[in-house]
Amino acid sequence: MSDTVAPNGQVRVRMAPSPTGFLHIGGARTALFNWLFAKHHKGAFILRIDDTDMARSTDESMHEIYTALKWLGLEWDEGGDKGGPYAPYLQSERKPIYEKYVTQLLDNGNAYHCYCTAEELDVIRTEARAAKSTRSYDGRCRHLSQETVESYIAEGRKPTVRIRMPDNHIRVDDLILGSRNIDPATLEDEVIVRSNGMPNYNLTSIVDDAEMHITHVIRGTEHLNNTPKQIAIANALSLNLPQFAHIPLVLDDSGRKLSKRHHGDLVAVNRYREQGYLSEAMLNFVARLGWSYDDKQEIFSVTELIDKFDLDRVGKSGSVFDIKKLEWLNAHYINELDISARTDAVMPFWEEEGLVVSTTNRDWLENIVEAVGERLTTFQDIVPQTRYFFTDDFEYEAKAVKKWWGSSDEKKEKTCEILTNLSQILQDIPEFDLETIESAIWKYTDENDIKRVAAMQSMRIAMTGTSFGPSLFDIVILLGRDDVLKRIEKAVTSI
Ligand code: GLU
Repeated sequence: MSDTVAPNGQVRVRMAPSPTGFLHIGGARTALFNWLFAKHHKGAFILRIDDTDMARSTDESMHEIYTALKWLGLEWDEGGDKGGPYAPYLQSERKPIYEKYVTQLLDNGNAYHCYCTAEELDVIRTEARAAKSTRSYDGRCRHLSQETVESYIAEGRKPTVRIRMPDNHIRVDDLILGSRNIDPATLEDEVIVRSNGMPNYNLTSIVDDAEMHITHVIRGTEHLNNTPKQIAIANALSLNLPQFAHIPLVLDDSGRKLSKRHHGDLVAVNRYREQGYLSEAMLNFVARLGWSYDDKQEIFSVTELIDKFDLDRVGKSGSVFDIKKLEWLNAHYINELDISARTDAVMPFWEEEGLVVSTTNRDWLENIVEAVGERLTTFQDIVPQTRYFFTDDFEYEAKAVKKWWGSSDEKKEKTCEILTNLSQILQDIPEFDLETIESAIWKYTDENDIKRVAAMQSMRIAMTGTSFGPSLFDIVILLGRDDVLKRIEKAVTSI
């Protein structure tokens, strides 16, 4: 039964990513649930790197995972690049520890060397499949004679080490999914050390969980099948077991597991950082993938999450990744920021497009952000929504032109007349401020029986190329008199 207690009675959880790619949404969720559980119970969150697969693990991926976790604010107490009382936290540096346990297993008869070649294993697997067995290895090397072993060694065969699965049922207690009894007949003697001497995940994981005094293993249900194997290994070594909690999968809207393979960088956490999502929105979004407080509340601050999070409110079924909800949350958190902070956040996106340089007037930029108001879903949206403030080199949108400037000669002529008159009015007014502009324009439209909306939309297309956006008066003031007159002239020529 689960009985690990950390030396000081503290809750200790870990995230153990394999650095074989970017941190994906599922990984971020595992990290967040562990981190929240640790914070809620005033425990420790450990970041262990599962990099025993030397061929696929890279430093670059490890650092990308660090960056993504730090961006989310999920700082770890021990591990990764930080060290701690149970260092090293990179499994590739812990080989001597695993060797000690493997020796113990071989000595107490719970593990054995397997000399089967890849070809032999293929044949065994095919036979097992034909016999509809759930085991793809039949344990034939459990009882090799000394003579056979010597002949294999003489042939140059390099053995693997396999754990001898127990004969009795393995009980798995899961804090989310409940308890199960696993029939050992369904489990094969798992390879725990490869023929190149590298230990495998099921051994290293449970050994490190015990060595690092992990009290709760919280991870995705994709590891459900590994848990009885890890329990068998722990029992064979008389190690204390952590408690297990498996979080149901994250699915796409057609019910398929969200994966790097099928969904590409749509699932990469850093992609959202680069596109101008706020980490608060991402955290809030990820928290609700599988966890809910009362089925109603959607917006949670980090403090509130720490306060309210516990495993008893994690659901048993999969949760759906809904990008629309992430966008909605992001817009919410953007709108919570004051104009100055919002301006800071959009600045890199303007700069990247070459729209803003170091000498661009800061107040003017803040006024643009203010005019955009609550229209940003991501910070990246600032570019298409404000490009026209920085340049008049834009196309007039065909649909808007047809609707407001007109397609018949008569309508076009009328539009030109209105725009020319507006240009004259804007040139003549003594002050170029909101009140003066507004009253002069309304005076003109009302006296000449011109629909206000028609005049406004015709102007708007001339200023921005489109028929929607911030208040036209804000745009006109932000562009300034010279630019406005130039744009009207350009529009009239174009019509
Ligand atoms: N390296 C495993 C993974 O990234 C860790 C699984 C576990 O938490 O035990 O999925």
